[in-house]
Amino acid sequence: MSGCVTALEYEGGIVAIDSGMVRPQMAACYLLETDSAIAVIETGNTHSAERILNMIASRGRQPQEVSHVIVTHVHLDHAGGAGTLMQHLPGASLVVHPRGARHMIDPSRLEASARAVYGDSEFDAMYGSLVPVPEERVLVMDDQESLMVGNRNLLFMDAPGHARHHFTIWDEHSRGWFAGDTFGLSYRELDTENGSFIFPTTTPIQFDPPVLISSIGRMMEKEPENMYLTHFGRVRDLHRLAADMRSSVLKFVEFAERFENEEERGQKIESAMMEWLFHRARKHGVRCEDEKLYDLLIGDVTLNTQGIEFWLDHGRE
Ligand SMILES: [Zn+2]
Repeated sequence: MSGCVTALEYEGGIVAIDSGMVRPQMAACYLLETDSAIAVIETGNTHSAERILNMIASRGRQPQEVSHVIVTHVHLDHAGGAGTLMQHLPGASLVVHPRGARHMIDPSRLEASARAVYGDSEFDAMYGSLVPVPEERVLVMDDQESLMVGNRNLLFMDAPGHARHHFTIWDEHSRGWFAGDTFGLSYRELDTENGSFIFPTTTPIQFDPPVLISSIGRMMEKEPENMYLTHFGRVRDLHRLAADMRSSVLKFVEFAERFENEEERGQKIESAMMEWLFHRARKHGVRCEDEKLYDLLIGDVTLNTQGIEFWLDHGRE
């Protein structure tokens, strides 16, 4: 597998590596290279470590040159491989949101809750066992704190909405955000002559629509030129995409309110969301077969439905 890893190279020493999870171009890890140091942003799962290390080697760099491993939040498609990767990067600190740090130092609760969601056999295949990161190697970044990777300044912004333990990282040099999941999902399979296609992502355990919209607004205040999404790769044309994100989050709220008191609420939200995404994708010029489009979307439609239901049951004050 590791011989044919997809890598997308962008300006400014930024490389997106396919983490190898689930399907090609589903989840990315990034390298940010400077002359004197490297940052790894997002770690994928346990198996992604080998891909990241191979990419570092194939670029003629050494593992010791990695000064920081940064996870935007502690969901396992972003941080599941952190402990394993850190064992191979002796000079690196793990940089994490204040609310996520304890789960990296002691991942037992994270592991237990993921096992409950996925079941033991799927969890074992995807993640093996989560490896703790020694506390002295963990560096917490609060809102508006910054750090240097070589000569490159990275600024951290608290970015809740998808998760309360989520920050996004501003790279002034490339005028781009490493956005994690706060700026949604944009799969390259849905690119058309009209550009990239974007929609929000939620999970069964957290979703806060107004807070997510305000995080997107704060990111846009920087007038970014690039968003480096974990799912998947760089997007531009950000005014259009930010407007799509805002209206999509409001659409989720509308689905929630429309089906709130109905029987089989989840099923109804799910089919309304799938229908809405199909309509949007076709309007955007996506021409693949219905079945292929359905397969590409169903995983996220299921998660987003669960996120909306979570918000209905727990989230609203
Ligand atoms: Zn994710």
